Amino acid sequence: MDKIRMTTPIVEMDGDEMTRILWRMIKDELLLPFIDLKTEYYDLGLSHRDETDDVVTFDAGHAVSRLKVGVKCATITPNRARVEEYNLKTMYPSPNGTIRSMLDGTTFRTPIVTGRLQPNVRTWKKPITVARHSYGDIYKGVEYRVPGPGLAELVFTAGDGSVWRKTIHEFAGPGVLQGVHNRDDSIESFAHACFRYALSVGQDLWFSAKDTISKQYDGRFREVFDALYQTQYRPLFEQAGLTYFYTLNDDAVARVMRSEGGFVWALKNYDGDLMSDMISAAFGSLAMMTSVLVSPQECYVFEAAHGTVTRHYYRYLKGETPSTNPMATIFAWTGALAKRGELDGIAELTDFAHRLEAACLSAIEDGVMTRDIALLAGGVEPVDSLSFLKAIRQRLECSYNLH
Ligand code: NAP
Ligand code: MG
Repeated sequence: MDKIRMTTPIVEMDGDEMTRILWRMIKDELLLPFIDLKTEYYDLGLSHRDETDDVVTFDAGHAVSRLKVGVKCATITPNRARVEEYNLKTMYPSPNGTIRSMLDGTTFRTPIVTGRLQPNVRTWKKPITVARHSYGDIYKGVEYRVPGPGLAELVFTAGDGSVWRKTIHEFAGPGVLQGVHNRDDSIESFAHACFRYALSVGQDLWFSAKDTISKQYDGRFREVFDALYQTQYRPLFEQAGLTYFYTLNDDAVARVMRSEGGFVWALKNYDGDLMSDMISAAFGSLAMMTSVLVSPQECYVFEAAHGTVTRHYYRYLKGETPSTNPMATIFAWTGALAKRGELDGIAELTDFAHRLEAACLSAIEDGVMTRDIALLAGGVEPVDSLSFLKAIRQRLECSYNLH
């Protein structure tokens, strides 16, 4: 078989620890033998971030803006212990945070569903994607412990000097107080990202909030979504046979539990925090969960939802053969390759990504699994990561009639 040609590179962001080891293995076993892989490589491994004073992370973010598609390996977000372990110049911020704020994106998380791992919710047949707004609300909240009696007011001083005032509460005794905000431009980019993502995966979009109680605040979110739908996205959704609808959070959770899955669920920041963990736990495992950051300019960064799997890495350094699950990292690559193929009009590349995903699922269906999911499936003898990759490669080769 001739290797599949690419025209535009993918931004490749290497990472840390166990996932860095898997990264190499995935490229060697599953990508390089089949594709004439074109990437622009950025080493976001912690040592290299330190050597470059984290400039490499910003360079990678700019490269994604330019090339539109990136794939990212999990990276260490340093804490005090890591500063010592890696003898760092400073405690660098999370690369994901840096890249997210450069691209102004929304994160979409989707479980990888197989017949061998039954979701805890019996009716779920297809994955549910949670789209979480990642700016503002309580994450940018300002709060007080109210010490005793007094008047709490909401005061806004406008640019022209006029002052708006509203009583929040007249405290007769001690209590608590919090101010939160969001911005129209951030809500709009969140909504654009959700509409475009739903169209790109061909699924319905749900948005839920609580505008019956929070008439102005959540009401604004609802208005922005409704307005963009009516003025821009409605014809595209109708053409694709898809629907958008808004409902209240409590109604949405009830519907989600009765649904078959197969839709995108957009949520405000805190609601998304809760629901993405509920969805991932109920579908099985973080090692079977993909994550993609989508910007309003339609740049995409694909990654695994899990971290660098430090505990496995330390055991690997001691000589243990790892049985770490590479699925989410492989699916980060397939997501990026499929998107690259779509943007560049290279059908073979997109087709390769789909064949690779099918080969992964078929290995699992056949009972070839790493330890984490073998435990969930029950009664399956686990294999190590490399054997798992070889089982996938064999199925991929079969799909191209290479045997
Ligand atoms: P983690 O790497 O997600 O691992 C937590 C535990 O989950 C592992 O010890 C393992 O459980 C299980 N697990 C996760 N992924 C797995 C996989 N692919 N296969 C098998 N088991 C898997 O989270 P963490 O240990 O809290 O964080 C480690 C480092 O990752 C930290 O330095 C953190 O900063 C970083 N991190 C990065 C990202 C990112 O780049 N997106 C996200 C989160 C965390 P068992 O040990 O029980 O087998
Ligand atoms: Mg959380």
